[in-house]
Amino acid sequence: MQITPVASGDHEEVYRVEDRQAGLTGFIAVHSTVLGPAAGGLRMRVYRSEDEALHDVLRLSRGMTFKNAAADLPLGGGKAVILGDPSRDKTPELLRAMGRAVESLSGRYWTAEDMGMSTADMAVLASETSYVAGRGDGAFASGDPSPVTARGVFNAIRRTARHRLGADTLDGMTVAVQGLGNVGWHLCTLLHGEGARLIVTDIDAARVAGAVAEWSAEAVAEDDIYGAGADVFAPCAIGAILNERTIPDLRAVVVAGAANNQLAMPEDGDRLASRGILYAPDFVANGGGIINVAAEILKIADRPAWVAEKLDALDRTLEAILTAAAAERVGPNSVAERIVAERMARAAA
Ligand code: NAD
Repeated sequence: MQITPVASGDHEEVYRVEDRQAGLTGFIAVHSTVLGPAAGGLRMRVYRSEDEALHDVLRLSRGMTFKNAAADLPLGGGKAVILGDPSRDKTPELLRAMGRAVESLSGRYWTAEDMGMSTADMAVLASETSYVAGRGDGAFASGDPSPVTARGVFNAIRRTARHRLGADTLDGMTVAVQGLGNVGWHLCTLLHGEGARLIVTDIDAARVAGAVAEWSAEAVAEDDIYGAGADVFAPCAIGAILNERTIPDLRAVVVAGAANNQLAMPEDGDRLASRGILYAPDFVANGGGIINVAAEILKIADRPAWVAEKLDALDRTLEAILTAAAAERVGPNSVAERIVAERMARAAA
């Protein structure tokens, strides 16, 4: 196994990890440990090149610093990626090799489940490292974070809709949900339960058919979700979907969803604001999952109560962001970034 430091601008530590025998090539990035040990998931997917994988891990680990700080967790930001097709290349040897790489950082980085990984895979990593969360069993195991992520997104939709539309409930509103995966599906259940009407899309036709059958949702084609006649747009699939091409099409006046890195460019936040669309910053709206994982890392005895309190605190943070954004006439994203910077400056002082 070779763990080689990689030079990187604003990250504390970045490593290229290679174990030829195990077929492993990947990266671990620790963006910041100012608030505590870096925490963020392990992703496995096909990348066009090592450069693309490195770019991804740097971007995602930085995002975790923001997400953990916004959720007021005593955790910094980190992330790990493995290059390869999880359905073909993922083997116990490869996972164990990654586990050894994580262990070599002595707890400065905690890993967990992300795209291409499962709770069962976390158990394999745990045979080589103590610094893995999101496990299915064990003393403080937190399991699948998606239901908690969905709860946080639901809270964010309610909070943002209250600011933009003055409504106390989502009853009677229409929400366009992009992506009916782990989070999107749980989110639809919550929205339907509150009386919202659903417009949905997914590249997986079976999921769309399921949503139509389950909640009488209206199904639309992949690209038609942006122009759907909805009050709220909830992106729960992929990043960079708020961009110069899609924003002019949006008919919703509230955007709040689970996907990471929803704004393709920083100026897309201003594009939304200039169209009168209120945006719940993604790293605030989707913080529920890492809160659930944090309970395991921090060995919290009464996880449900602690997670519920943290979700309430996150909701209060979003309220403060939206209030300040309205008063200062700026986009919520820039206020959220400022709050994170202030929390980190206080911790560093
Ligand atoms: P998932 O893989 O279970 O679901 C994603 C869904 O989106 C799938 O059903 C997929 O078919 C669909 N999809 C992919 N591309 C699409 C497209 N172009 N248009 C429409 N649908 C498309 O993932 P998930 O766990 O539900 O997470 C959803 C998003 O939220 C991801 O961006 C993830 O990074 C982010 N997120 C998830 C969590 C969590 O707890 N799972 C936490 C924070 C952020």
